[in-house]
Amino acid sequence: MTPSETYPIERYIMTKNRCYKADRRRTPTGIQVHSVGSKGTTRDRWRRWNVATISKCANAIVDLNGIMQTLDWDVRPWLSGSGSKGNANDWCVGFETCEPSTKNDTPEAAEYLFGCIRYLCTELCRDYGIAPAQIKCHCELHREGVASNHADVNHWWGRTGTSWEKYTMTRLRREVALELGEAYQPTRMEDIVVSTLKKGSKGDAVLILQENLNALGFDCGKPDGKYGSVTVGAVSRFQTKYGLKVDGIAGEQTQAAIAAALKPADTPKEETDTGIVGDALSALLERVSKAERDLNDIRAEIARLQGGTK
Ligand SMILES: [Zn+2]
Repeated sequence: MTPSETYPIERYIMTKNRCYKADRRRTPTGIQVHSVGSKGTTRDRWRRWNVATISKCANAIVDLNGIMQTLDWDVRPWLSGSGSKGNANDWCVGFETCEPSTKNDTPEAAEYLFGCIRYLCTELCRDYGIAPAQIKCHCELHREGVASNHADVNHWWGRTGTSWEKYTMTRLRREVALELGEAYQPTRMEDIVVSTLKKGSKGDAVLILQENLNALGFDCGKPDGKYGSVTVGAVSRFQTKYGLKVDGIAGEQTQAAIAAALKPADTPKEETDTGIVGDALSALLERVSKAERDLNDIRAEIARLQGGTK
């Protein structure tokens, strides 16, 4: 991966689309990654969204020719349907990805398409100060309750035996963080769904396991996504320390224990410490409102005296 790698961006702003007309602008704080759900389309098929009768619109469409920008980046798109806890469109800039056909699903094509996506996400993160951890795909957003129930992009990304095997959302977030020169926060074990990992396993889940173990001080060396004897050793040491059956295999129990062990340090403060932070915050807010009341009284008194001296 070359950090300076760039990909072409064509500006084709859909000025007839209702999203454009609604012109709801806000500074995006997240990125939503979608794919169109049908194989082998190109950006040209989606140009037909540029009509007054359509209100669904992405900020961009990515295909094997590069990136086509369809709305200004700060215009609210209509990509995700609402979930029970809200709608990602309200804070996420987002794009659609054209899924490769069986014919063009080659390693080179996958590398190019993933490169486009990484480039676009890096640029957006840099321009808007978005944290790479806030890059989520449709199904991840659904899991968080802020998007409708769709499977994209995990129905094709990371699929074993395809050109997309090595391309995952985790990898995207990690590589964008690296591009930005930011410290990468490992994905927590509990945030991925994996079956038992053991010697010989490989892939993204192993990489996350290794990053988690390293973060906990059980040295796996440089994470490489390959479950070799070094990883077996680290898992065994973890199991010994946490009183688990020591077999060097990261099954359900071990993965859950790793997730639990990482949690306190890894979870943002306002989430774990609502009690303490919440109390301190209420006390401060109470002081602010008291100070405001005092200030108002003082101003009223000054006004009264000034009025009286006139
Ligand atoms: Zn979607």
